[in-house]
Amino acid sequence: MSSHVEVAIVGAGISGLSAAWELHKLGIESLVVLEANSRVGGRTLNYPLVSGGYVEQGGTWAGPTQTALLNLAKEMGVSTKKGKLEGLTFYGFRQKWTMLEPSPTSESHIAQKDFAQAMTTFEALCRTVPVEAPWQAPDANVLDSMTMGAWIEQNTTTDEARAWFEGCVRQIISGDPHKVSLLWMLHFVHTAGFNDLLETAEDFGFVGGTQQISLNIAQHLGERILLNAPVTEILGYDGSLVQLVSERGVVYAQEVIVAMMPKTVGRIKFHPPLPAIHRQLIAQWETMSWIKFHAIYEQPWWQGQIISGHFLNIDTKIEAFDISPEDGSKGVIVGLLAPDYATLPELKRRELCLTFLGETFGQAARQPLEFIEFDWNNQPWTGGCISALPPGLLTAAGSALNSPVGRIHWAGTERSSVWVNYIEGAIRAGQKAAHDVAARLRSVSTT
Ligand SMILES: Cc1cc2nc3c(=O)[nH]c(=O)nc-3n(C[C@H](O)[C@H](O)[C@H](O)COP(=O)(O)OP(=O)(O)OC[C@H]3O[C@@H](n4cnc5c(N)ncnc54)[C@H](O)[C@@H]3O)c2cc1C
Repeated sequence: MSSHVEVAIVGAGISGLSAAWELHKLGIESLVVLEANSRVGGRTLNYPLVSGGYVEQGGTWAGPTQTALLNLAKEMGVSTKKGKLEGLTFYGFRQKWTMLEPSPTSESHIAQKDFAQAMTTFEALCRTVPVEAPWQAPDANVLDSMTMGAWIEQNTTTDEARAWFEGCVRQIISGDPHKVSLLWMLHFVHTAGFNDLLETAEDFGFVGGTQQISLNIAQHLGERILLNAPVTEILGYDGSLVQLVSERGVVYAQEVIVAMMPKTVGRIKFHPPLPAIHRQLIAQWETMSWIKFHAIYEQPWWQGQIISGHFLNIDTKIEAFDISPEDGSKGVIVGLLAPDYATLPELKRRELCLTFLGETFGQAARQPLEFIEFDWNNQPWTGGCISALPPGLLTAAGSALNSPVGRIHWAGTERSSVWVNYIEGAIRAGQKAAHDVAARLRSVSTT
């Protein structure tokens, strides 16, 4: 197969699909979306349960400031529902559970003050980092030369506050704070807004799951989506027509939007090779991933008791919370296991999760109707939950984040300057790339 289009989009995650939908709304119908997988939605994924219904293995929640996502969902006829159930949060440290309400209380008031002080300092530092160009922050080189973990060590005086801060960061980035740049972390949080990220990012879910938004866009776009079409080569992007080679044939396009997790872009061969700064950015981008698990029960029997809520064990790096449907039709607990457990045999991991659930939600939680785990590290076209930057990279190569190369434009949540790493960021990056491409096409047609 070979075809000619005005715009080819690589990746049918929510970012690539948002780009395609925006182009369609701008009147550009000559487009194709090439997707490696046999499905659309990328890091949003509904997983059917044997007992009926589904659970979400990827991106799930939304907050009130995520307006691009809320608007797109509405446009696609996907309505919102209440997000995480309210309940008490507990954190486990040195084999003791402590209640968090609303900031960590502790027998040790010193640790509590220490934690609060570090959070205040971090928040103030976040505000110094420009969302469009984090490498231009005052002291950018210093901030980028250290890890988030090192900063926590320097800015806390008690073991408990340090462990709690690390636990919070680990929860957000799905990886080790000692592996990521402080500047990258400050930028990540600032693009969402410190308070919005901590307090409102999980206010809503979507009826039918977030993947439904992508499924609906794909239905509107019809044959313009090509599944099972991993792009392996992009040629001639510096000329007048770009050639994209995929397992389903060759596509020739005037403009290209690459809407993928940056690390996976490294699997595509570019001719001519991408400029060095882009290659450096792509090659050194880290991926990080929780292992997500769901345990399904006939009833959410734990609700109404004190344990309805959220458990984060800092010692074992396991977290779980109640996401049962509001009508009480079944009990659903979702959990996250740190990447450290990926090398354990599956049965051992399952036993570990069930022990954790038994200790926190009650012994009956050891016997779910269904137990499902999902490791994004094993997904061939994604390779993780979150892309993170190690120290030094944002200042060295950050300016390549959003700069087009010839006829190639970049999308994907990692390229956003608003809610980076979230679905909101993915949509905004896709929409922005669509507008940039449309402007280029218009300028060509008027010259
Ligand atoms: C466990 C988990 C929980 C999360 N929770 C939330 C949450 O609650 N709220 C939130 O807002 N966000 C959450 N996120 C993040 C959110 O899901 C992502 O930010 C968002 O889905 C990224 O979309 P994207 O389109 O940028 O990238 P992706 O979804 O990764 O899409 C990229 C697409 O490119 C395709 N591709 C890769 N290589 C090729 C190739 N060579 N040729 C063609 N196609 C290719 C991939 O198959 C994929 O479909 C979560 C993510 C995970 C994994």
